[in-house]
Amino acid sequence: MYALADCNNFFVSCERVFNPGLNGRPVIVLSNNDGCAVSRSNEAKKLGVKMGVPVFQIRELVQKHQIAVFSSNFVLYGDMSRRVQETLRAYAPAIELYSIDEAFLDFSGMEHQNLDALAKEISGACLRNTGIPVSVGVAPTKTLAKIASKLCKQYPKLRGGCYLHKPADIEKVLKKYPIDDVWGIGRQYTKKLKALGINTAYEFTQLSALRVQIMMGLTGIRTWKELRVEACIEVMQASPPKQQICVSRSFSKEISDIKELALQVSMFCAMACEKLRKQDSHCYQALVFIMTNPHKEESPRHFESTLVTFQVATSSTLEINRAVLQALQRIFKPSFAYKKAGVILSEIVPDSAVQGSLFDQLDRAKHQRLMKVVDKINKKNGYSSVAVATQSLEGIKMNRQHLSPQYTTKWSDIIKVKT
Ligand SMILES: [Mg+2]
Repeated sequence: MYALADCNNFFVSCERVFNPGLNGRPVIVLSNNDGCAVSRSNEAKKLGVKMGVPVFQIRELVQKHQIAVFSSNFVLYGDMSRRVQETLRAYAPAIELYSIDEAFLDFSGMEHQNLDALAKEISGACLRNTGIPVSVGVAPTKTLAKIASKLCKQYPKLRGGCYLHKPADIEKVLKKYPIDDVWGIGRQYTKKLKALGINTAYEFTQLSALRVQIMMGLTGIRTWKELRVEACIEVMQASPPKQQICVSRSFSKEISDIKELALQVSMFCAMACEKLRKQDSHCYQALVFIMTNPHKEESPRHFESTLVTFQVATSSTLEINRAVLQALQRIFKPSFAYKKAGVILSEIVPDSAVQGSLFDQLDRAKHQRLMKVVDKINKKNGYSSVAVATQSLEGIKMNRQHLSPQYTTKWSDIIKVKT
């Protein structure tokens, strides 16, 4: 048996925890650079705000209905996500963090318990401990658990928990469940299936295995089996270390000054290196890229990247940063206005597999000790408390006009209560 815990309208819910005046009001949270609506309260959904709609297209709607608008505050959302996870861990021995607002719980061997009551209890505990409403779906397969959690959102009567296991109930639900909402069926396959007259999850389960196999391959078969109550996707507890680490951003204003661009690239580099060390790895290669705005047809366009290779695998921000900035100097052209830049670390190996070189002149042990201390200080005192001097300390050049405070991670932003 599997459970899926999915936070309802997660980013909006995070904003509401610390700003209860938002309850009952239409609220939206925007993507990076205040571009599109990526999280919407139920009230905003009712007004017709679609997922991913650019904010400039709904300006009138926002004004007319006084929709509260927020820039994305990932420091806050990340911390709230961690708090929800902590509550979930108390209920299952194995948990898979699927995304910032979703986690699978392995309920194997718990079938004798009252799982409907347990699902509701978990939802209640999350709300009590964190203030975030969470929908908990329980079912014999992960794909069905996802569907069960969606039902919680549709039917408030379920009080945040739904146990979907009786064959007759599953059939009834699948007959009404749109095929495009099934986990694992992408947009491409939805098109193909709809062309065949298959509109619901139930109709999909009635196809022959051979037909699904030919049309959609192995992943299609897995989804098909899962809907037919045959579990084939396990809970994965630890994600394997990444083979590539990329940190890149678009800027709110284009940058044509190399000094300004270097501040940003250096910061991306430091962020990537920190991720590299967090997964106990070193890398042999770093790639830097810079690009102009691809949507601006009237101005000259330019994309350039360059790869740096290290003789000995490294995770030192100092070493990688120096190489990355030299590479940037080589590819930068002063006549362009750059909209986006990024750093990608690749050829990643675990710390234990680093090979030395006879000609190596760097005191690697010293670098490692230093990085350890830097990571420790930054973890305790907040991001870039200690940074390389070439790196921007003002953060990323992003548009964030509607940013809420970092209520849970910054001393100066903690809510004060007068008694
Ligand atoms: Mg969600």
